[in-house]
Amino acid sequence: MKKCSEMGSKTNGLWEWNLTWRRKLFEWEEEEAMELHNMIQRVQTSQGCMDSWEWTHSKDGQYSTKSAYAILAKEEREATEITTFSRIWNSVLPRKISAFNWQLLQDRIPTKMNLLTRGIIKDIQDCKCGICGEEEEDTKHLFLKCNMVRWLWMACAKWWGIKVKLEADCWNTFQVAGREPKEKCIRDGWDCIWNSLAWTVWLARNQNTFQGKEINWEKLLELIQLKSFHWITAKKERYAFTLTDWFINPVACLKDCHRKR
Ligand SMILES: [Zn+2]
Repeated sequence: MKKCSEMGSKTNGLWEWNLTWRRKLFEWEEEEAMELHNMIQRVQTSQGCMDSWEWTHSKDGQYSTKSAYAILAKEEREATEITTFSRIWNSVLPRKISAFNWQLLQDRIPTKMNLLTRGIIKDIQDCKCGICGEEEEDTKHLFLKCNMVRWLWMACAKWWGIKVKLEADCWNTFQVAGREPKEKCIRDGWDCIWNSLAWTVWLARNQNTFQGKEINWEKLLELIQLKSFHWITAKKERYAFTLTDWFINPVACLKDCHRKR
């Protein structure tokens, strides 16, 4: 292996690479060599130092599987964020619902526990769930774990004939929901239910918390069904099913329209 100092020279104080290869490069390799050259062009070498390997992703320059894993996890997270963002913003949802759901997935909704963290609520005793009044109200509890909210999830899943996995937090639950079912039109439709459910729960919680209005859960289920119907049919003219069709079998409605395209 050659040293860096043998792979170029300084001209007028600036390092210029002069890469030499042990054999003549194939045509496809030429392209890669060019790419490599472009990548290292901005790198300036230090004089009077010994060549050594350095892992730039850790402070001490030493490679560790932990730091490599952290980079891969970060890349994965960034890629997932982009997909999640477009799932929410390119959907049939009204803008304010998209905005709410993006905030929800980032855990920035003003739940009581979030208000406690921000110092707006002073006492943890005042952080009981606005729906059940039993557990502390954080995002996970309010949208996934609270007893009647769970019932609502299961009722929607039954209506769609699918299984719902409620993960440790909203972000992961949304990711898992995005991987099933197989057909994109059904996945998009289910995203719409996801968003409709979260928004409806939030409004009901607010009315219950601030106006003491009791929640009628059967009515909430109907509201989710109605809202999702209006959102989906308003944006996609090819969807010609009726509200009754939608109430009876939403998956068949979406599949049917998908086939007719
Ligand atoms: Zn609760």
